[in-house]
Amino acid sequence: TDRILIAPGDVLAQPAAFKRRGLLFVLSSPSGAGKSTISRKLLADDDGLTMSVSATTRPMRPGEIDGKDYHFVDLQTFKDMVGNNEFLEWAHVFDHRYGTPRGPVEGMLEAGHDILFDIDWQGAQQLHQLAGGDVVRVFILPPSMIELENRLRGRRTDSDEVIDRRMARAHSEIAHWDGYDYVLVNDDAEACFAKVRTILHAERLKRSRQTGLIGFIRKLDTQDI
Ligand code: 5GP
Repeated sequence: TDRILIAPGDVLAQPAAFKRRGLLFVLSSPSGAGKSTISRKLLADDDGLTMSVSATTRPMRPGEIDGKDYHFVDLQTFKDMVGNNEFLEWAHVFDHRYGTPRGPVEGMLEAGHDILFDIDWQGAQQLHQLAGGDVVRVFILPPSMIELENRLRGRRTDSDEVIDRRMARAHSEIAHWDGYDYVLVNDDAEACFAKVRTILHAERLKRSRQTGLIGFIRKLDTQDI
């Protein structure tokens, strides 16, 4: 029935009593578009959000921490993990393999956490095939390709050759922007962060995610009939 009969004395606002489905929040962008700053701010701002830590075969960069930025593994270990079905998704990016470990994600979703994924378009696509409506895909664009190149050069972490390859990779990443639910241009880090946070907050309020609340209203409905 579509009819919802609610008595005047019924209490509806008990959100804490109703478990919302956790959502999988995917943030993709070409490297240099400012995604890592935004995800760092988002995690600091929000207790309900946990980062998924990927496994990768790429070498550790200075300043990175094993187990925090990535789980750094060798090729054989990665292949074994693939063989043992330990990844929700995995892909080749640049010359390396990257994958999302399955275990922590399932644990966090059960605990009612939303999970943030910094993965590429291939990962976003695979997660969407797997978890459909629980996945929210956000793509962050740099204001221009020239601006992107300037930012990559400004970081002074990569050689010219690496920057050229990152730019080529950025073209193919951007070509897949249509596989996302939201597309933002990062011309101002603070404004872009605010928009991403707004998307997260709005997605949490979607009726389809408030399964506990819907069940509660249905119950009121049948009681009244
Ligand atoms: P970086 O080597 O610069 O840390 O990451 C390179 C690219 O790999 C980024 O675009 C990042 O989003 C992507 N990436 C990181 N982890 C994963 C993962 O687990 N799965 C997929 N598909 N892509 C990932």
